[in-house]
Amino acid sequence: MLIYDFDFPALEATLKEWNEPAYRAKQIWRGLYAHLYSSTDEFTNLPKSLREKIENEFAFAPFSVRTFLDSSDNSTHKTLFELPDGNLIEAVLMKYGDPADSPSPLRPSPAGRGDGGEGKLRRTLCISTQAGCAMGCVFCATGQMGFKRHLTSGEIVAQVMHYARMLKQQNESVTNIVFMGMGEPFHNYNNMMSAIERLNDADGYKFGARRMTISTVGLVPQIRRFADEGRQVNLAISLHAADNDERLAIMPITKKYKVEEIIEACKYYVEKTHRRVTFEWALINGVNDTPETAQKLAARLKGLLCHVNAIPLNPTQGYEGQATNRQCAQIFRETLERAGIPCTIRMRRGIDINAGCGQLAGAESQ
Ligand code: SAH
Ligand code: SF4
Repeated sequence: MLIYDFDFPALEATLKEWNEPAYRAKQIWRGLYAHLYSSTDEFTNLPKSLREKIENEFAFAPFSVRTFLDSSDNSTHKTLFELPDGNLIEAVLMKYGDPADSPSPLRPSPAGRGDGGEGKLRRTLCISTQAGCAMGCVFCATGQMGFKRHLTSGEIVAQVMHYARMLKQQNESVTNIVFMGMGEPFHNYNNMMSAIERLNDADGYKFGARRMTISTVGLVPQIRRFADEGRQVNLAISLHAADNDERLAIMPITKKYKVEEIIEACKYYVEKTHRRVTFEWALINGVNDTPETAQKLAARLKGLLCHVNAIPLNPTQGYEGQATNRQCAQIFRETLERAGIPCTIRMRRGIDINAGCGQLAGAESQ
């Protein structure tokens, strides 16, 4: 079994079964998550016999690196991982705040995901929660490839550990984690939350919940459950359309959950948690980037503690839609802001390495 799939009580129970002293579980936990060890050899504080046993009983490598790519400006790194069953998943590291990373006119302030803060060096990791995705959004490369399987909590955590080790070699660390890679996190709810708890653990990796963001297509019961659980993790909703008919044309999940139900669930979330919701909006030329659409959206979001994160569409092979242009994006933002809805236009990152949303895995599996 993959060692990252254990939560602490399960690891403790296993060590107890092996008649090991209680403190061994903590040593292993700290080795994995505080020291970022990736093989049994590194656990020099454990007796050799125990190391051998761990080596025989646990797997340390959840995947192999199939492809690793850097964008031409060196700001975006993408890794395509191959799971033991042959499925491919991807994780992307985005670097913000480096001297060469000057603000663009479309991005007046460094786009805020999580609470990394302005002007600071940010190392934002975008990771996958499923291989493929069952939600079938037409503009999304992951949606176009269909659902393969859920990732285990350990496979989610291990993507973070991979990058944490890489950054540690450069005396850096992950500052923000967004669950916006392949898959729908709320479709894999329990594994997702276990992964968050493991990353957050005070005796382990200690990654602050407020620096994590879950992005969902808008699964209403899970939004409400998430609200009830009162976690500090940020919530982003991929809305992309303000009307049900328009949304249905690009996001089949609209058959199940109407826009108004999603907004209601978000209101509930804000009431429960007092936290701001982010709405993700991929600006598609002539489809959802007009001032009229912005007005409809503003009407929908009125009175809700929220923020709109708009990004020009990343064109994909399986969808004829094109990215908005700079001017439309600007007008879209201004229209929202005039109506009292804060909006940021984010630049697309890593386009030259297919770092947008499932594109690399899509390309390699064709
Ligand atoms: N399934 C989740 C998280 C993964 S997708 C969700 O849908 O929220 C991460 C984000 O990328 C979502 O906001 C999604 O709508 C967006 N996205 C997908 N394909 C895109 C594309 N081609 N261009 C721009 N954004 C895209
Ligand atoms: Fe799945 Fe999100 Fe892509 Fe939709 S946008 S298909 S929910 S990964």
